[in-house]
Amino acid sequence: MGLYKAEYIWIDGAEPTPKLRSKTKIVETGKEPPIWGFDGSSTNQAVGHASDCVLKPVRVVPDPVRGGDNKLVMCEVLLTDMTPHPTNTRAALVEVAKKFEKYEMWFGIEQEYTFMDGVKPLGWPSNGFPAPQFGYYCGVGADEVFGRDIVEDHLEACLEAGLMIAGINAEVMPAQWEFQIGPCGPVQCSDDLWLARWLLYRIAEEHGASATLSPKPVKGDWNGAGAHTNFSTKQMRESYDPCVAAAKALGEQHALHIPHYGHGIEERLTGKHETCSYKEFKYGVSDRGASVRIPWQVAQDKKGYIEDRRPCANIDPYTVTRLITNTVCSKL
Ligand code: ADP
Ligand code: MN
Ligand code: MN
Ligand code: MN
Repeated sequence: MGLYKAEYIWIDGAEPTPKLRSKTKIVETGKEPPIWGFDGSSTNQAVGHASDCVLKPVRVVPDPVRGGDNKLVMCEVLLTDMTPHPTNTRAALVEVAKKFEKYEMWFGIEQEYTFMDGVKPLGWPSNGFPAPQFGYYCGVGADEVFGRDIVEDHLEACLEAGLMIAGINAEVMPAQWEFQIGPCGPVQCSDDLWLARWLLYRIAEEHGASATLSPKPVKGDWNGAGAHTNFSTKQMRESYDPCVAAAKALGEQHALHIPHYGHGIEERLTGKHETCSYKEFKYGVSDRGASVRIPWQVAQDKKGYIEDRRPCANIDPYTVTRLITNTVCSKL
């Protein structure tokens, strides 16, 4: 009888920003990873005298870290009566995605993040700061780029796992990077983003570095980290009016969305560093100082997608894609 290792991955109850957790189960070759459980009193998901939480596998992919027949198993957290746990934001997304299925919503999320070496960004001098921002975005060379070996290993791992990764680039602040997931439906995009984040932490660990999704990892004149959320409905991919209507719909629900766009959003959406203040809403063609950008190519082709630039790097994509789907599809 052969065996494989299944790494069960779930989202905990940490506040204000949930964290990933994982543990390993040995499973018989040929069998699907079964329902499992964990101690919710250690993850802020239960109290000690009734501590069991349930892990329900929802997406199983090859494990590029262990290789062979081993698997990564993305899970939803359930209560013992098999209903969604209060921290389970995926279940609500699945419902909304189903309700608006005929709109054929696609998402592409740009995940920015920063490598840290202890308390300072990777490669930064231990005393003082690197040269001001300019040459780092899409830069090349040891004086401008820190952590490329980790980034390359991560990209390879995402591809081996079969995640919908679309690309990578070095970002404006040194030691800051981005990968993009999509375009695909809201549930897959969010599952794959969480799995890609887990792989990022896991692979950085091999290199003795850590990665943070903090939206403003360094105070002052350094760019924050976002999770620009690009999306389209079938109608938007076919004509321009729905693209503008979607931007306007997001404007009407600005106050509903902002509290779910990442803890610390006030520090990132200041109106500086390619952002629009969180206190206002603007959309515009090519405008990287807007809340929502209509890419120039889309304005020219008169169809395509739009970019919500407000979400921070530390968002829960299950919640953000649910809100956008609900807000936009209700109006189109
Ligand atoms: P930026 O110019 O803002 O840095 P990127 O190239 O980093 O843009 O990211 C654009 C994202 O938009 C990618 O993840 C891509 O998959 C996604 N995307 C492209 N076309 C569509 C579409 N029609 N609907 C939704 N997302 C899309
Ligand atoms: Mn980008
Ligand atoms: Mn970026
Ligand atoms: Mn962008």
